[in-house]
Amino acid sequence: MSAVAWKVEIDPRLCIASGACAGFAPELFVLNGAHSRPVRTDIAPDERALDAADVCPALAITVRDGEGRVIGPRP
Ligand code: SF4
Repeated sequence: MSAVAWKVEIDPRLCIASGACAGFAPELFVLNGAHSRPVRTDIAPDERALDAADVCPALAITVRDGEGRVIGPRP
């Protein structure tokens, strides 16, 4: 994956397993028992990852750009 890859994380302490992320972007997130996880931690830049971070009811999803800056959820 190139240096511009984004990183997606889900904090299992915050995730309430609503399934919203996996339902919204199943190519990026999978509901896995008590919480969801990213399908891959490193992804090509994808607006849907930001959208999912925005809709997560627990703000459990963090998206970072290729330089490590937090870009999702958006303020
Ligand atoms: S939307 Fe948020 S709370 Fe719901 S499963 Fe995904 S990470 Fe967990």
